[in-house]
Amino acid sequence: MSNERETESTPERVVVVGAGLAAVRTAEELRRAGYEGELVLVGDETHLPYDRPPLSKEVLRGDRDDTTLRPSEFFGENRIELMLGAAARSVDTASRTLTLSDGTELGYDELVVATGLRPRRIPGLPDLAGVHVLRSLEDSRALREAIVPGARALVVGAGFIGCEVAASLRAREVEVVLVEPQPTPLASVLGAEVGALVTRLHTAEGVDVRAGVGLSEIRGDGRVTSAVLGDGRVTSAVLGDGRVTSAVLGDGRVTSAVLGDGSEIDVDLVVLGIGSIPATEWLEGSGVEVENGVVCDGTGRTSTPHVWAVGDVASWQVPAGGRRRIEHWTNAGEQASVLAKTIMGVEAGAAAQVPYFWSDLYDIKIQGLGAVTADDTVHVVRDDGRKFLAYYERDGRFVGAVGGGLPALVMKSRAKIAAGAPIDELLTAAV
Ligand SMILES: Cc1cc2nc3c(=O)[nH]c(=O)nc-3n(C[C@H](O)[C@H](O)[C@H](O)COP(=O)(O)OP(=O)(O)OC[C@H]3O[C@@H](n4cnc5c(N)ncnc54)[C@H](O)[C@@H]3O)c2cc1C
Repeated sequence: MSNERETESTPERVVVVGAGLAAVRTAEELRRAGYEGELVLVGDETHLPYDRPPLSKEVLRGDRDDTTLRPSEFFGENRIELMLGAAARSVDTASRTLTLSDGTELGYDELVVATGLRPRRIPGLPDLAGVHVLRSLEDSRALREAIVPGARALVVGAGFIGCEVAASLRAREVEVVLVEPQPTPLASVLGAEVGALVTRLHTAEGVDVRAGVGLSEIRGDGRVTSAVLGDGRVTSAVLGDGRVTSAVLGDGRVTSAVLGDGSEIDVDLVVLGIGSIPATEWLEGSGVEVENGVVCDGTGRTSTPHVWAVGDVASWQVPAGGRRRIEHWTNAGEQASVLAKTIMGVEAGAAAQVPYFWSDLYDIKIQGLGAVTADDTVHVVRDDGRKFLAYYERDGRFVGAVGGGLPALVMKSRAKIAAGAPIDELLTAAV
């Protein structure tokens, strides 16, 4: 990685693309590190920067609607210019110019990429009403408005978001089928042992968990659901089913879903929780290296001078070796602190040695410490039928702990995880 910044004077204009959590934290940390120059946040959404974790929890359940991160005065007081409803379209890294979708050009001394993720969609899936994704406030509100007690929902994908959506829908008295091609929910992130404990939580709350099976098809009510218009006439159309008899546009609704095992489920709602992809399309042709996220060293520096990346979109080098993109709230703030100090030429050290995440399912808060993976050996050291604690082992070392409803036990393992303590020591103590 090369970046000549440290040999130059303090930048006069830092432009952050994206106006989510990582962008706001970067701006705050730059001010904290003594940056006095211009600070511009360019965000394609029109809301004040807001928090996403409540979107699958309180907002969906109808307990809260405003998740704004900072009041508007905060940005004025800290001389942070917000350009909202403005999408970055391209960047010329030689002249250090960002171009927005309306053609506006914006020069920068340092550019920070904080554009997060976009929900993955299934190519070829018909565009039917009743099919939702969940990443933005609009997504959450749209799904919330579609919920009526007794509705039948299919949640596709049992990662964190799919699991939380299932739990929130149950709280709103929706019947839920949760499908997941892996052997259990969360298997690809926490392993199947903890996944089985999560299955049990869902099942106890009445969710019909169908693991080891994927979605094959969704079916609509038979009307034309989208069409491409040429010279005023319909030139091609996508059908819910059957033949074109008349063109009724835009009101086809999902009615059922077919799973990989051939079973067909009647549904009113489908929520796709099949993961997300880094929002880097605007960097194409810029020379900034992208490989499942923006490639960075351990401080957010990219291979292109004066370009940095932070948060969900960034793939940082990690102390254990290799690179990793971390899609968790705490990570965005921790990386922002390291990145801001580095831009200011202050020695910052690596981002957190022991990453933290949480997820809320029913009355149980799942918490994790450490960079755990599904390939680690998992030891379930406590299980009372609902609450649980699992230790993660790699090469004989303690690398992480994941708990459900046992916050103190998870948190107290931080020092041992940081030290990479021998797992036997932990297992003996846990007995
Ligand atoms: C529903 C949901 C629930 C979550 N729950 C938890 C949880 O319980 N625990 C946890 O640890 N983490 C959780 N997370 C993850 C956490 O919210 C993210 O890690 C965090 O939001 C990352 O912040 P970010 O700023 O990197 O990305 P984002 O918050 O996605 O912000 C990026 C912003 O950039 C904008 N943007 C994209 N492209 C452009 C462009 N070309 N030009 C301008 N702007 C652009 C986007 O629209 C967005 O506003 C959850 C996420 C979601 C979606």
